[in-house]
Amino acid sequence: MPHELAPTLRERWLAVRDGLESAIRAAGRASDEVLLVAVSKFHPADAIRELAALGQRDFGENYMQEARAKQAELAKSPFCPDVRWHAIGALQTNKARDAAGHFALVHSVDSLKLAEALARRMPEGRRQDILLQVNVGEEPQKAGVSPSGLAQLAEQVENVEGVRLIGLMCLPPRCGEGEAARPWFVRMRELRDSLEPRLGRRLPHLSMGMSGDYRQAVEEGATLVRVGTDIFGPRPPRPEI
Ligand SMILES: *Cc1c(COP(=O)(O)O)cnc(C)c1O
Repeated sequence: MPHELAPTLRERWLAVRDGLESAIRAAGRASDEVLLVAVSKFHPADAIRELAALGQRDFGENYMQEARAKQAELAKSPFCPDVRWHAIGALQTNKARDAAGHFALVHSVDSLKLAEALARRMPEGRRQDILLQVNVGEEPQKAGVSPSGLAQLAEQVENVEGVRLIGLMCLPPRCGEGEAARPWFVRMRELRDSLEPRLGRRLPHLSMGMSGDYRQAVEEGATLVRVGTDIFGPRPPRPEI
């Protein structure tokens, strides 16, 4: 990475940390209730290494090949043991083998087939933590289970050994647009709240909010915010791997 970019990345990260902290406080919540996932897709491993050295632990990646290449590269770095990886992109069932066991959390499970594919790839006795991605605005171009199909999918996934469902994720209409996204965050919280009695247990996590609307997401109950541009700056073109 060019040397003069280094302070910018640090400053951006610090600014997001500050913004997140004040949103958490304003919402009357505790700092440890919300995890900042730095979305590093298309950004080089060096940028991840630099943030990891500053204390950023959680990184989100969308594309398996790119993610696994960065994981391999960072495995050589002294900060790597502290890094937790999140798979946040649409995942084809045939790519599940690349994801299972290599991410602390897979945010984007939206079918029983995908949950089963992940489970099959997990070593004996281990379970992959997952979220169900909800297409909360029922937009045809977006991945995710529809709100009306969520309860059934959750009940099916409950019976899959090898995965552990711990919450929901969304990429709502008008995401990144501040207040415009808020009603969808409210809807997600309601969906989660109505699912819990059906499953007979808590679903602790809501992954929602990105650059431009993470404050609103935090106010509506997000426990994981996925922030890319505000931390790393504009995304470069997708790398050739
Ligand atoms: C890229 C991406 C983000 C981050 O978006 P920014 O606007 O850069 O903060 C968050 N969530 C998902 C699912 C993404 O693909």
